[in-house]
Amino acid sequence: MEQNNQPSLSLSLDEIKGIIQYPCCPKQNAVIALDAHGRVSVQCANCGRFLLIDNDRMTASITKPCKGVAARFKNAG
Ligand SMILES: [Zn+2]
Repeated sequence: MEQNNQPSLSLSLDEIKGIIQYPCCPKQNAVIALDAHGRVSVQCANCGRFLLIDNDRMTASITKPCKGVAARFKNAG
């Protein structure tokens, strides 16, 4: 376990494939690691919209929230 609240993980520049600019808010972006694949659903911290990020295509599109997912997976992590 971590002994403090300091972040212990970070990506160095040569581990980053690129960034994806959010379609809803151009100032927001996701940093994509070189080994990231598949899709991930994230919520924009600025406007609260849900986005589907495709790590392979390096695209992001506005999507609907995944209803019920928090309740179903709340014990997974
Ligand atoms: Zn946004």
